[in-house]
Amino acid sequence: MDTTPTAPGAPDVPTAAGPAAATGATGWRTHEVTNQVDELAGHSPLAIDPALREALARAGADAFVPGLAEYAIWLGRPETQAIAERINRVTPTLESFDKRGRRIDRVEFDPGWHALLAAYRRADLVAMPLRDERPGRWAAWAAGFYLHGQIEAGTLCPATMTQASIPVLRREPALWAALREQLLSTDYDGRDLPLADKRSIWLGMGMTEKQGGSDVRANTTRAEPVGAGGRGADYRLTGHKWFFSAPMCDAHLVVAKTPDGAPGCFFVPRWRPDGTKNAVHIQRLKDKVGNRSNSSSEVEFQDAHGVLMGEEGRGIPTIIEMATYTRLNCVVGSAAMLRQALVQALHYARHRSAFGRRLAAQPLMRAVLVDLALESEAAMQLSLRLAQAFERQDDPGERTWMRLVTPAAKFWVCKRAVELTGEAMEVLGGNGY
Ligand SMILES: Cc1cc2nc3c(=O)[nH]c(=O)nc-3n(C[C@H](O)[C@H](O)[C@H](O)COP(=O)(O)OP(=O)(O)OC[C@H]3O[C@@H](n4cnc5c(N)ncnc54)[C@H](O)[C@@H]3O)c2cc1C
Repeated sequence: MDTTPTAPGAPDVPTAAGPAAATGATGWRTHEVTNQVDELAGHSPLAIDPALREALARAGADAFVPGLAEYAIWLGRPETQAIAERINRVTPTLESFDKRGRRIDRVEFDPGWHALLAAYRRADLVAMPLRDERPGRWAAWAAGFYLHGQIEAGTLCPATMTQASIPVLRREPALWAALREQLLSTDYDGRDLPLADKRSIWLGMGMTEKQGGSDVRANTTRAEPVGAGGRGADYRLTGHKWFFSAPMCDAHLVVAKTPDGAPGCFFVPRWRPDGTKNAVHIQRLKDKVGNRSNSSSEVEFQDAHGVLMGEEGRGIPTIIEMATYTRLNCVVGSAAMLRQALVQALHYARHRSAFGRRLAAQPLMRAVLVDLALESEAAMQLSLRLAQAFERQDDPGERTWMRLVTPAAKFWVCKRAVELTGEAMEVLGGNGY
């Protein structure tokens, strides 16, 4: 008896009676699967990028290349790519309470999330450019971020915020003395524990509220001093944040208004110094279009413990310094997305045929691919050049250039990434959607 499915075109299913009869190698009765392009996997994103290698050499970052090459091989492995794909499908979930009704405000992740974050940290891509003194360190870091971002972008959110918090925290003697080792560490510690019990920590930032994000001065979250107040003193925060990414970070830098109505910047840990959970309640995780592996949340502060950073009333300049570093990461991250889109488009066009020729040989398609390649490479070159300016901040000319170009580059590369990734998706025709 023939037990194979009868629906026309259905793939054969193995049965207890043995393999289904008489099908082609591709498992269909009605046709062969041809001219479909297999996924690109098992390549090193550094090995296939001569422009990046040249840019690293120009930046004097040759000493960092062997480490980057090793990391790139790991990133390109099919297993790593499978993890990256999975953690954007199996997205984080919020556990507000434990089984007995105690508040835990914990976000649970697929183990792959931890694997990718751990790899990034162990590759020394969080703190290296702020700890290392060798020339080329910022270009090398940008290259590492760029390589990682081609495989998985969500993990770069807590990585970015942690790195960006370091220059700001360095100005706070007591906090820096307590956190220095954990911030600079290349160890990965994903446990949800008080700061003092952790080998390494992650930091986030909280500015945006429901009534306004760009206009941080519109913040309504309040901070009351516990004693006399002032820089380094304890406060109690009451209010909310409408966007609070990576809420499992060990602490966030949060903008809140002191009693005189001026915005201050506060260090708000997940756990209070006495070992109890801080009153930062995660209300909900955002349902986002992209960046899905990363949890972005909405939170409420109910007398949450915080420590004032910088002078009272100087919260915006303090958080803007952090944001300057996150903007650099936005540029490099968008350049990484562009590069990945280009690589996928090229791979597809080189293997897919239409009208008797490979797509890559069709004149109009070549024009599209060349434009994509040019703009992708320009974004990468700008990223590394900008990163070098962060290294040379002692030079007044470089510092001015950095201040002007960072927001402009963020605007341009992020904006172009949307259009160009759309163009790259079209190269895949219907398979791109
Ligand atoms: C994935 C994701 C993660 C995020 N994570 C965090 C986080 O961890 N912490 C955090 O604090 N925030 C976070 N944000 C929030 C982000 O910083 C804000 O969305 C952003 O600052 C804009 O604020 P808004 O959404 O309130 O928009 P609005 O400020 O309401 O702006 C709306 C639009 O108006 C434009 N606009 C604003 N002012 C002007 C003006 N003067 N002239 C012309 N146009 C103007 C804006 O460019 C925007 O297009 C995240 C956002 C996303 C999408």
